[in-house]
Amino acid sequence: MLYVCSFLYIGLSVLLLFRRGQNLYRHERRGVLAYNAALLTGNLMRMLLPRVLVMDTFCTIAITIIFFGFTNPHLFIDQRHIAFNKRGLRLLLAEALEAESFHVMGMVIRNYQQERVVVGGECMDQATESISAWVLQALPRNVLFYLGSGRFAMMGNHTDWNALHAKMRSRFANPWETETSTLHLGALFVNVDEGSGLNSPEKITNTLVLALESAERNIGMGTEKSADTMSIGEVYEQIATLRTLEGVLERNEVEVFLQPIVSSSSHALVGTEALARMRDERGNYIPPSLFIPIAEHAGLINELGSQVFNKVCEFIATHNLEELGLQWININLSPLQCVQRDIAERFESILGRYGVSPDVIHLEITEQSLIDHTLIKNQIFQLCEMGFRFALDDYGTGYSNLVRLSDFPFANVKLDMSLVRSYSRDKGNLLPAMVSGLKDIGYTITAEGVETEDMANALSAIGADFLQGYLFARPLPMDEFARTYGR
Ligand code: C2E
Ligand code: CA
Ligand code: CA
Repeated sequence: MLYVCSFLYIGLSVLLLFRRGQNLYRHERRGVLAYNAALLTGNLMRMLLPRVLVMDTFCTIAITIIFFGFTNPHLFIDQRHIAFNKRGLRLLLAEALEAESFHVMGMVIRNYQQERVVVGGECMDQATESISAWVLQALPRNVLFYLGSGRFAMMGNHTDWNALHAKMRSRFANPWETETSTLHLGALFVNVDEGSGLNSPEKITNTLVLALESAERNIGMGTEKSADTMSIGEVYEQIATLRTLEGVLERNEVEVFLQPIVSSSSHALVGTEALARMRDERGNYIPPSLFIPIAEHAGLINELGSQVFNKVCEFIATHNLEELGLQWININLSPLQCVQRDIAERFESILGRYGVSPDVIHLEITEQSLIDHTLIKNQIFQLCEMGFRFALDDYGTGYSNLVRLSDFPFANVKLDMSLVRSYSRDKGNLLPAMVSGLKDIGYTITAEGVETEDMANALSAIGADFLQGYLFARPLPMDEFARTYGR
C-alpha cells in the first residue's frame, strides 16, 4: 500500500510538472524533478534493501532540495504592492534573456518626489498601492514589478504595447483614491526590449531605473517637452554616457577644473572650487549635470569622487598654494558619498599618499545630504575631527531650515545662483535678512554664479564674503589655473 501510494504520488507529481511546469522558473522545475528523484531512490532502496533504514535520510534530502529549489518567495515580492520587486525582475529577465526575447514597460509617477512631499508619504504609498491593484485587475496578463519611488515595470508577452500604453494613459486621466484624498497623478513610460542590445538582467534593470529617473526629471521640470514616453534614443544617450563614464573611470581619466573664488572686498583670489570634467570619445566635454546623476545611480560616484579627491591632493602636493593665493580648495561631495561609512578612511589614505593636510580642503555638500540626519551628522563630525571643513552648497534650492542647519559645523554657506540672479533682478528684504541670519550663526557667505558687476556689488553690499562666477573666471584646467594665478 505504501509503495503504491508513493509511486502514484511521484508519478502524478512528475506528470503535473510536465503538463503545468511552464508556470515555474527553470530552477524550480529542476528542483521538483530532483525532489522526486530523491523520493524515488529512497523508495527503491527500501524495496531492495528493507533492512537498511535510509528512507528518512532520502526524505530529508528531498525536503532540502525543494526548499532550496524555491527559496523564500518573500525575497522577490513587494508585499505592499502585491508585485514582484527589483530582485524578482532580475530573475524573470534572466529567464527571458535565455529565450532572447523580452519587453519591459517601465512607468514612473510624474513628479513623484514633489508629490510625496506635498501629500505626505502614507498617502502616496496608498496611491501607488491603488495603482498596482488596478494593474493587477485590469491587465492580468502582465507580471507587475514595483521598483520603489513610484516606479513600476511590467512584463508580458504582448505584441501590442501601444494598446497597453493607451489603456494606462486613459486610466491616469482619472484620479486615484486614497483613504484621505483624491489624487490626480501623471505617469511617464519607458520601454526597453531585446533590440536595446542589453545582455544582462542587471544592465536592463539599471537602464530601466535610470531611464525612469531621467524621464521624471526631464519632464517634471515643466520644459516644453510634453511627450510622456521617453524615446529609446534618450535612453541610449544615457547608456552611452554611462559607458563613457565607466571607461573614463577605469582609465583614471576624470579631469578636474578649478574655478576661482574671490574676496568680495578686494576681488583677490582666496579659494577655488574643484569641478569634475569628462570627455566623450570625440573629445567633447559632457556636462557634470548629465554624468553626476548617472554616476550616482550606477553606483560609480564613490570612484568618481575618489579620483577627483586624488587629483586635488596631487595638485596641492605639487603646487605652492600660498603663492597662488589659495587658502583652500573646495571639493563637492555627493549625498551618496556622505553616507559611505568608510569615507573618512578613504580620504585619510589619499591624504597620506600625498602628504596633504586636510585643513586646506573644504567639502561642499547640499542640503539634500542632510536628510538622513543622524548618520550624516556623525560622518560630518568625524571628518571635521580629521581637519576637513564643510561648506553648504546650493543654499536656497531646497527646504532650508536655519534651526536645523545650525546643528552642523559649516564654515561657509554658498548662495545658489538662482538666489543671486533673482536678487540682482529685483532687490527685496528677504536675501539680506537670510544672509544676516546665516552670518549671525557664524557662517561665512559665498555668492555663486556672479556674472556681472551689478551682481558682484549687490551681493557684496548685503554681506557676502566671497564671490564665485564667470565675471571673475570660468572653471579652468588645473595647469591653466596654475599658470594664470602663479606669480
Ligand atoms: P555646483 O557645485 O553648484 O557648481 C557650480 C556650477 O556653476 C559649476 O557648474 C560652474 O561651472 C557653474 N558656474 C560657476 N559660475 C557660474 C556663472 O557665473 N554662471 C553660470 N551660469 N554658471 C556658473 P558645473 O561645473 O557644470 O557643475 C555642475 C554641478 O555638478 C555642480 O554644481 C556640482 O553639483 C556637480 N559637480 C561638479 N563636479 C563634481 C564633483 O567632483 N563631485 C560631485 N559630487 N559633484 C560635482
Ligand atoms: Ca559645489
Ligand atoms: Ca553650488
